[in-house]
Formats: sequence, C-alpha cells, structure tokens
Amino acid sequence: MALPKFEYLAPKSIGEACAALAANPEAKLIAGGQSLLRVMKFRIMSPECLVDLKSIPGLRYVEHESDTLRIGALATQTDVLRDRVVIKEFPVLFEAIARIANTAVRNSATVVGNICVGHTASDPSAALLALDAELLVVSTSGERVLPIAELFVGHMTTALEPSDVVKEIRIPRPKSACGMAYLAHAGRGAMETPLIAAGAVLTTDGKKCVAARIALAGAADTPIRLKRAEKALVGRVLGDELIQTAASIASEDCTPDSDVYASSEYRRRLVAVYVRDVLRSASKRIDERDWEK
Ligand SMILES: Cc1cc2nc3c(=O)[nH]c(=O)nc-3n(C[C@H](O)[C@H](O)[C@H](O)COP(=O)(O)OP(=O)(O)OC[C@H]3O[C@@H](n4cnc5c(N)ncnc54)[C@H](O)[C@@H]3O)c2cc1C
Repeated sequence: MALPKFEYLAPKSIGEACAALAANPEAKLIAGGQSLLRVMKFRIMSPECLVDLKSIPGLRYVEHESDTLRIGALATQTDVLRDRVVIKEFPVLFEAIARIANTAVRNSATVVGNICVGHTASDPSAALLALDAELLVVSTSGERVLPIAELFVGHMTTALEPSDVVKEIRIPRPKSACGMAYLAHAGRGAMETPLIAAGAVLTTDGKKCVAARIALAGAADTPIRLKRAEKALVGRVLGDELIQTAASIASEDCTPDSDVYASSEYRRRLVAVYVRDVLRSASKRIDERDWEK
C-alpha cells in the first residue's frame, strides 16, 4: 500500500527538529518508521510533514557511566541487544526487546520510538518501568527530565507535547545484589505485541527483599507499576508463598480490557501466572549475578 503524500524535513539538530514541529502542528517526528509508516500506509494517520531524526548526527548510542545507562533516540533495538552492559546487568530489558517481532524490525526500530507510541502492550515500556527509567526530553523551551511512569497517559497517548523530542532514556545501574526478569504471553504468534507481559526487578540485603519493582504491559490502558504487590514483598524473605500473595494482588489490581484476542478475565488470570513466574525467575537470579564490573 502506498504512503500518502507528505513534506519531508531533515533537521541538523534537535533544536531545529523542535522548531519544525512547533511551527507545524500537523508534523510528526520519524525515527525507525516501523510504527509510523505502517499507520500512514493504512491511513490511520496522515501527517502533512515528517521530521526525520536520522538526519541529526550523534543520537545513535548506548553509553554507560558509573551509575547510568543511556540509550540515545536513534539507538535501534538491535544496538541495545548487542550492548555488553545491557546483556550483563539488565536482563529485564534484554528479554523484553529480544521478543519484539524479528531481526529486520529490530534493526530499524528504536527503543525510544517504541515507548513514544504509548502502546499499552509495549514490551520495552514494561521493562523500563520496572527499571525506573527517566527520559531526557527536549522542546523549544529547553530540556526536562520525565520519569517514565509519567509518560503514559492512555493507550497510544503519552504526556509528550507535539514539539517534544526524547533525546535519550536514562536507566540507573544496579548498585547491589538484585535479580531481574521479563516474561510475555505471546498470544497467537511471535510477530504480535503480547497479550500481557510482566517485568520485575528485586533487590535484597542478602536475606530480605529491600526493594521491588513490578511492571505490566497489556493489563490496563497503559503499562503500569504494581505498587501494592511491590509493597507486599518489601521487608520480607522472598519465598513461594509470598510470591503467590504478590501475584494474587497483581491480578486484583490490573484492569485489562477485552478485545478480539482475549477477554479481560483471561488476561487477569494470565497476570497472576506471569507475575508469579517472573518473580520466581527474578528471585532465583539474585544469587546468580556476577557483581564484578
Ligand atoms: C511487525 C511488527 C511487530 C512488532 N511487534 C512488537 C512487539 O511484539 N512488542 C513491542 O513492544 N513492539 C512491537 N512492535 C513495535 C515496534 O517495536 C515499534 O514500531 C518501534 O519500536 C517503533 O520505533 P520506531 O523507531 O520505528 O518509531 P517510529 O515508527 O519512527 O515512531 C513511532 C512514534 O514515536 C514518535 N517518536 C519516535 N522517536 C521519537 C523521539 N525521539 N521523541 C519523540 N517522539 C518520537 C514518532 O513521532 C511516532 O509517533 C512491532 C512492530 C512491527 C512492525
């Protein structure tokens, strides 16, 4: 199917991109184009103008400082999967991205573009929520840091203004023994967003859980954190009974929709199973991690 006609702009800096977006409310930013070009082909969206991020040098990076991992706006999903720090320290993110579509899609699609779509069943979004990531957002009025928890407003709706450009994702590096895991229920096939997915990051002091972050995709109108289930784990020794309790709370606290793929009730049952399994897996990994950097 052919694309509708559009004007094409190739800015040389983020400032130029923001100015172009601000000057034309019908313009859209394009990164890998894996989502945007598809919706344009189906005439779900017909922006008058595309502002291409790929013309801006220096945005394709995955970099690490002592306490932060930074993923640039043009880092593809494959770039992130190949990064040695992601492989070693962020299995929740690696597993979430590795399940997306296929190599061809991951070679073009960016992680930043994925979360900017605001899809409730976005795999990277659930992982990044569990990792407590932040976004560096640039607009015509300057830069601001947006916690990822504040990005998601509704299905396919984010808190970004039309002229905002997300420059990078920032993820705090783990400082003490923690375990992470991501599990997704794929539904009918590998090329689809999950029916539901769960990501978890658990930290212990050697005995008790001192911090827990659990996030779900596809289980509400946005990706969500499960604060009540997290609270149930903190201060306690992680064991199967406790994990079952947290999983039951998770299934009570999610609000999935029914659609042609699955009923709300079926998704809620999946949440109980997948939260249980992701917590088991994350807690088993706490001792397996190698903290030598
Ligand atoms: C066949 C197929 C299967 C897929 N399966 C899955 C799956 O299982 N799980 C999953 O999570 N995803 C899945 N996806 C979605 C895919 O991961 C996303 O399409 C992709 O990540 C979007 O990234 P992109 O770089 O292509 O963004 P684009 O399509 O270029 O842009 C997407 C949106 O984000 C905006 N945007 C892009 N970059 C920025 C920025 N820096 N700042 C502000 N706004 C920005 C654009 O304006 C646009 O609205 C699938 C896609 C395809 C084609």
